[in-house]
Amino acid sequence: MRVRFWGVRGSLPVPGSKTERYGGNTSCVEVRAASGTRVVVDAGTGIRKLGKEIGGEGENAPSEVHLLISHTHWDHIQGLPYFSPLYGKGNKVSVYARKRDDLHLQAVFASQTDDPYFPVPFAEAQAQIAFRELPDSAKFDIADVKVACARLNHPYIATAYRLTCDGASVVYVSDTAPFSDILFEDEFVARPPSPGAALPQRDREKLQRMREGVVRLCEGADLVIYDTMFTADDYRRIPHYGHSRPSDAVDVCREAGARRLVLFHHAPERSDAEIDGILEQTRRLAGSGGPDVTAAFEGLDVELGRG
Ligand SMILES: [Zn+2]
Ligand SMILES: [Zn+2]
Repeated sequence: MRVRFWGVRGSLPVPGSKTERYGGNTSCVEVRAASGTRVVVDAGTGIRKLGKEIGGEGENAPSEVHLLISHTHWDHIQGLPYFSPLYGKGNKVSVYARKRDDLHLQAVFASQTDDPYFPVPFAEAQAQIAFRELPDSAKFDIADVKVACARLNHPYIATAYRLTCDGASVVYVSDTAPFSDILFEDEFVARPPSPGAALPQRDREKLQRMREGVVRLCEGADLVIYDTMFTADDYRRIPHYGHSRPSDAVDVCREAGARRLVLFHHAPERSDAEIDGILEQTRRLAGSGGPDVTAAFEGLDVELGRG
């Protein structure tokens, strides 16, 4: 399988001289099986360039894309209206995301392009678009790619995906807070917990189960892509924003026996030089027994398994 990174940033796109090397586009990762099956995780602004490669209306042969959405926060879907395969007749796009109780997935995406936000209504997209809503911990196949899911600890909940094909596995864990100080569910968390405040036992147990689910998902993986938006200092200040530190990712990978960790969902304010520094520190932390560590950059291209 081939894993390509098209957008590696969290929150919003940040073009400019300080983000040139790692890139400024928001989250989008493509996984291509040797058979040609194409799965894309998240539709941040990075997906625009991928769409150009796949081709839109009348450009290439009809294409089929399976799009897994971790959650529908802006930075994970904002590129979708610019994904050219949506506008090509004969193309097939299947969109997968966690089921909500209130809104259907299709309505979430359609509202993104409603007037006055966008000139082309979603209903005008020419591709055949299918929506699939997933329960927590779903397991299913996309042609020869096996998919498994786990719930993440993020405001309004996000989903982690493990993709297995060609004898290799990659896991996408974004966005998530560590599983320790706050339990995020379907409600807004306005402020950090008071220092030293104990979590209710119910919350502690839920967090423990969630963490076990993530470790299991990462078990023996060849590659783990992990939300490491926060430094230790960020986490002390704003733990209720729902993101992890590199040390959290190293701990999960170590426990799961994952081979390689990719630091992902870089903070928009982080310069290339700062990411270099975080990468060095994390490599030292992982040491010789931990995973090999890389920091995601646009254009990173990893071959795993056979083919
Ligand atoms: Zn995000
Ligand atoms: Zn988010």
